[in-house]
Amino acid sequence: MSDRIEQLCIEKGLRMTEQRRVIARVLSEAEDHPDAEEVHRRAASVDNRISLATVYRTVRLFEDAGIIERHDFRDGRSRYEEATEDHHDHLIDLKSGDIVEFYDEEIEKMKEAIARRLGYKLVDHRLELYAVKLKDGEKG
Ligand SMILES: [Zn+2]
Repeated sequence: MSDRIEQLCIEKGLRMTEQRRVIARVLSEAEDHPDAEEVHRRAASVDNRISLATVYRTVRLFEDAGIIERHDFRDGRSRYEEATEDHHDHLIDLKSGDIVEFYDEEIEKMKEAIARRLGYKLVDHRLELYAVKLKDGEKG
């Protein structure tokens, strides 16, 4: 839904300016993990008065409100995606920079089990795999 983030902002009592609305929409529509500069490129194509500084401020605001998630995939950029109930992990292709989302039931159970074994209840978790693609014929 292209106005999901906007709805969440309203529910959380954030004041929605026209520029924030555009940025919210760009983030809602993103199917990848754009960094602030990419969000800015997309937002500015809708409204060219939106500055990079505004994008930085706005994503920070959305992040603090728990509406979007920030990722650091070790390329020196913060990347953003809508925070959803459905958890997933990421595999980062070190050559192409592609980010592959995945979910593995066994890993999820294992994370909880490890925390429990150490005397904790798991409340949040992230897993990032950094990888290079196997060549044809290479064993997986
Ligand atoms: Zn993701």
